Amino acid sequence: MSGCSNSRAMRLFDAHCHLQDRRIAAVCPQLIRASIDSGVLRFAVNGVSEKDWHLVKQMGEQYPCVVPNFGLHPWYVTERTANWFNMLREFLTATPTAAVGEIGLDKGSHGRNIEFSQQVEVFRQQLELAKELQRPASVHCVRAFGDLLEILQNVGPFPAGLILHSYLGSAEMVPGFAKLGAYFSFSGYLTSMKSTKAKNMLKLVPKDRILVESDAPDGLPNLTESLLVVPLDDSSPQGLQSQHGDPLCEASVSPKEELNHPANIHTVLNYVATMLQMPNEELAELTYRNATRLFSYNGLEVVEEG
Ligand SMILES: [Zn+2]
Repeated sequence: MSGCSNSRAMRLFDAHCHLQDRRIAAVCPQLIRASIDSGVLRFAVNGVSEKDWHLVKQMGEQYPCVVPNFGLHPWYVTERTANWFNMLREFLTATPTAAVGEIGLDKGSHGRNIEFSQQVEVFRQQLELAKELQRPASVHCVRAFGDLLEILQNVGPFPAGLILHSYLGSAEMVPGFAKLGAYFSFSGYLTSMKSTKAKNMLKLVPKDRILVESDAPDGLPNLTESLLVVPLDDSSPQGLQSQHGDPLCEASVSPKEELNHPANIHTVLNYVATMLQMPNEELAELTYRNATRLFSYNGLEVVEEG
């Protein structure tokens, strides 16, 4: 892609984000352009429910740098239609480059309102589908790591790979997940983990299983350093509205409520590289190669750029 040229030697692969999210839809082309210019050459864009799979598919067709992912996120399991699973299978089989995601388990403040047995049922079905189609799956897990390991041991192993996205689990659980084929993807949420704990955990992640992600428009790193802000959409008089209905302008939202720009993945990279005492360039190349290997399947190969 001509627009993928950039002056920096560093290249990054955003292993998990939501560029189809309606909160950033109007400015998405700008966000992609700015990210590519900064060296982010690939984006694994994750759908969350039947309502956005067509948007993710379109995005994959429009942008060669987008790897589409289709999945039913645990927060939306109660909204599924009777036909959801057939639809998911259709999207995946019609899109050979697509992975499964975002799927998972959530016992956090949001997820605990959603019946856990339903979450488990929907999660297992999607894991089994990923296995059958030999695609990787992007997994969300909040306060349910014990349940997650048990289910993965039951359904797995996963030779096509699994992405534990925004991994915040313990160091002790890393080897068990790695054995099943998991990759560990780190986002701005890692900045919320105690740094000694994060360091010990990062040290145990096998070097060929480490990834970085933005999780944009969520996952804004909790750091004081300068971060890129999602620009307002000038074409809409009200500007963008967040899912909570707050107007997205700097004057009315605190920095912590601001949306995350996907190019802030550079801040995540710096943070993880510092903890691993590894040069940024080395971690960028390592994670780019890991993601490229993971997202090359069914005889397809993600074309290397840069
Ligand atoms: Zn996500």
